[in-house]
Amino acid sequence: VKRGQLIDGKAIAEQVKSELKKEVAELAEKFGKRPGLTVILVGNDPASETYVRGKVRDCEQVGIASELIRLPDTVQEEELLSEIQRLNDDPKTHGILVQLPLPEGISPDRVISQIRPDKDVDGFHPLNAGRLATGLDSLLPCTPHGIIQMLKRLEIPLAGKHAVVVGRSNIVGKPASFLLQRENATVTMCHSRTKDLAFHTRQADILIAAVGRLHMITQDHVKDGAVVIDVGMNRTPTGKLAGDVDFDTVKQVASYITPVPGGVGPMTRAMLLYNTVQAARAFFS
Ligand code: NAP
Repeated sequence: VKRGQLIDGKAIAEQVKSELKKEVAELAEKFGKRPGLTVILVGNDPASETYVRGKVRDCEQVGIASELIRLPDTVQEEELLSEIQRLNDDPKTHGILVQLPLPEGISPDRVISQIRPDKDVDGFHPLNAGRLATGLDSLLPCTPHGIIQMLKRLEIPLAGKHAVVVGRSNIVGKPASFLLQRENATVTMCHSRTKDLAFHTRQADILIAAVGRLHMITQDHVKDGAVVIDVGMNRTPTGKLAGDVDFDTVKQVASYITPVPGGVGPMTRAMLLYNTVQAARAFFS
């Protein structure tokens, strides 16, 4: 196998979006309604502002109706919870997303649990997390689902492969491990207390880095010919966006590798649209 083949997440995401655009048009034709996503942004964290703007733009691109609700960072948790309740009961809203992080004093767990599970397009509600863990259908967390979609569309085999996931968060690492097991991979989980990380990562046929530490995965963490998926989003000292993987050296040994930006990020965004369409379809039919 050739080394250093770039996985073009942006191009694959465009393909997913064009499929979704068709699906949205079909739903509109059949039911006379469009899928609707409501995003709640509390405060004005600059990174969150950028993400939310991107999500609204993505919706426009495929024909999903989107609404942005802005709340001040002084909002009380009770007010946020009742706003979510209103959207839970609103028939035009099929997907509800509360942009994280939330200001101090508001419990993300309580907020996420308030979202109706069948409108939980981030897939973070404990019911959806539990359904995923037990192998039931659910709305899937966008980043790990985007990774699986990317691998499947490239026809990279997963069954029987050894996947090593670095990072065990509820939004990326842990759900990635469940999805990889569902695809019959053998999965090893690594985290901050793992001893001799490189020993474990060198076993990986498929290595997923989801930590948030600039360039922590170097060439000696990677087996020759491995597929390397970089979820990390970090700033370099000069302010550029870069991953957890030291791209320039790792690409010399990896068979496939995702760039940052242009890898996992666009797939994550596409899967939010996918979830919104799935949620809407369930409400329409
Ligand atoms: P997180 O909640 O901070 O979790 C980080 C994980 O990394 C934890 O499980 C932690 O272990 C582990 N870790 C920390 N230091 C480590 C070390 N030295 N060696 C091995 N493992 C270590 O982060 P997250 O939300 O999963 O996000 C991870 C990264 O992905 C961030 O850079 C984030 O910005 C990015 N991200 C990107 C996208 C996208 O669409 N591209 C989406 C989501 C997140 P412990 O559990 O032991 O603390």
